Amino acid sequence: MADAQCACGALRPAVSEPPLLTALCHCLACQRRTGAPFSANSFYAIDCVEICGTSTEFIRTADSGRKVHMYFCPTCGSTVYWKADGAPSWIGVGVGAFADPAYAPPAMSVFEQSKHAWVQLDDTVKHFEGLPDRRDWGDVKPSLSSLATASLPRLLGRCPQDFQSHGRGEEPRDAFALWLAAPVSERS
Ligand SMILES: [Zn+2]
Ligand SMILES: [Zn+2]
Repeated sequence: MADAQCACGALRPAVSEPPLLTALCHCLACQRRTGAPFSANSFYAIDCVEICGTSTEFIRTADSGRKVHMYFCPTCGSTVYWKADGAPSWIGVGVGAFADPAYAPPAMSVFEQSKHAWVQLDDTVKHFEGLPDRRDWGDVKPSLSSLATASLPRLLGRCPQDFQSHGRGEEPRDAFALWLAAPVSERS
């Protein structure tokens, strides 16, 4: 399996399993983070990714108050991976860091409310104006099976655990939103 790396090659996340999910995000924070009109984000089980090389951490606080940790190469500045306190068993890696045109295609496209009009995506992705709602999660899951069949049981096994860790009174949507918000940071 191809590893990801930053532009200069010093920071390299090595992955041992396929991604659990690939998603596009059109939010303004991702636009600023990437310098591109939207971000392409892959999500892995955290124990399937080994980080090689030195990174600099940039922590941002999401609206929930939880932290999102961004890791970039101190030499070339590429943002390569990120973690969210709200979803501790997940790690996000930039799709572009794999430099693989055959990489697993996105299952969803979020924050289309700030999508550049010329960006046209067909219905092979689920479209969301903002973040997916709790009920939408059920719609998204089937599309995962075609992307990462081997990892789907892991995904389904992990999500409830993450959700449960958030405590009483907090909707699963919030956990999912946090997880999805990982590359995005501030959502105010
Ligand atoms: Zn670098
Ligand atoms: Zn975003």
